[in-house]
Amino acid sequence: MTLAIALAAALLWPSPASTPVNPRLVVVITVDGLRPDYLLRWKAQLTGGFAVLHADGAVFTSAFQDHAVTETAPGHATVLSGRWPAHTGILTNVLGVGDSTAPLVETRGPGASPRRFRGTAFFDWLLAADGASRALSVSRKDRGAILPVGSARQEVYWYQGGKFTTSTYYRDSLPPWVRAFNALRIPFKAAGREFGTLLPDSAYAEVDSATWENGGHDLTFPHRLPTDSARAEIAFAGSPPMDSLILAFALAGAESLKLGKGNATDLLAVGLSTTDAIGHAFGPDSREIHDQVLRLDGYLGWFLERLFARYGRHRLLVVLTADHGVTPFPEFSRMHGHPDARWVSIDTLVTTVNQQLDRVTAAAAPRQWLDFDTGLLFLRDNGRLAATGVRPDSVLADVARRIRAVPGVARTDRPADLATADTAADPVARRWLHQLVPDAGVALVVTLAEWNAWSYGGGIAYAAHGQPSDLDAHVPLILWGKGVRAGIYGTRAATVDIAPTLARLLGLAPLSIPDGRILSEALSGR
Ligand SMILES: [Zn+2]
Repeated sequence: MTLAIALAAALLWPSPASTPVNPRLVVVITVDGLRPDYLLRWKAQLTGGFAVLHADGAVFTSAFQDHAVTETAPGHATVLSGRWPAHTGILTNVLGVGDSTAPLVETRGPGASPRRFRGTAFFDWLLAADGASRALSVSRKDRGAILPVGSARQEVYWYQGGKFTTSTYYRDSLPPWVRAFNALRIPFKAAGREFGTLLPDSAYAEVDSATWENGGHDLTFPHRLPTDSARAEIAFAGSPPMDSLILAFALAGAESLKLGKGNATDLLAVGLSTTDAIGHAFGPDSREIHDQVLRLDGYLGWFLERLFARYGRHRLLVVLTADHGVTPFPEFSRMHGHPDARWVSIDTLVTTVNQQLDRVTAAAAPRQWLDFDTGLLFLRDNGRLAATGVRPDSVLADVARRIRAVPGVARTDRPADLATADTAADPVARRWLHQLVPDAGVALVVTLAEWNAWSYGGGIAYAAHGQPSDLDAHVPLILWGKGVRAGIYGTRAATVDIAPTLARLLGLAPLSIPDGRILSEALSGR
């Protein structure tokens, strides 16, 4: 960051006049794929962590990951940076944290780092104010652990092959407390474990068995982990107790690192991924997701009680949010008021155009001129096309016309045309504007009609997310702790508001200019 940006940020974001709250620990919980309507649908059955946060927290009912590619990596990057994907540089999962130059430590798996993350995040602001501040960030997923702390080289761990690991971006060996936790081999020892529903059958209104669930296999309760320990570990990662393992690991780390026990404010970021796994496999209307939310409520209740006992309620600030929602299976939607819901693919169309361009340009070998992922169409090698007399603009205009004719597609937009859109009246245009990293080379964006989902052919169908629809963008946002005014807030909020709001509470100056606003309606005396 340049000095000029730092000065601009300090001027735009002056320290509050009132006394900042002084928590020992800021705890940010991001539940992967948690739709806010889950917490309303099953409210009467929620008595654990969700109930605690709802009762004494500021609950924003109209909060959004207000960008277009509602995937895990871009979503996690907004939460503590206060900035949209357009400014964090985290465009998609594929262009997220993968980094072959940062291999995993003491295990095998894909390397990862925040190399693509741009600018600063909340922890950098905390550290700038007090060099003694520390952060621990944990998640089942690399992107869920890495992106909440931005580029900071802190204690960042995720799950791979039955163990917690990190990458060489952060350290070269695992510390003793992580090795000791891994040595418990909890995921392997769960082999053969059976899961019934938490509550009696009568507590669940959802049908247990729908043919589209889970690739057509293992549709009904009780579900079982494989008896073979290696296979059990893999299945464990998508099962409810994976979330409790993450929370136990986070507590073990907080204790071992003496987080929140010094004079500085520390950060604990936790990413919980099973709600996403079950949402994908069984859908947001399944008995399985209902049961998962009840179980997670219990785990979070236990986690919060442990934190309250260790730090005292008044020394904690807690945030709960999600990285995205999820769209129901089109098969389900067709039976519930959305007869046109379908799986949509433009893969064949893209392949056909690539072959046409090979012929027109007399390419020696097949080329991927067009590349499509999650609504983003890239046109590669413009210069080569132009050199052979093909106008990239007319190729794109023709492709856009053909894509718009595909059933389920709502619209296509050229990035340049979005700049003049009415972002208040047109949320889709706004979400794409918030999304597009200017130098990413996106040539065209494609938006599906709501209730439709991208199909990438061949594999098992999973309930999807990644669209600029409210189904995928609406998320919970709860602030809890000293300085927060409890209540239900219907004012519009976004996940980019979290970091500037925490900064205001703690009296910090953001070091990158946030895209979000301070949620001052929920701050007492501010
Ligand atoms: Zn996710």
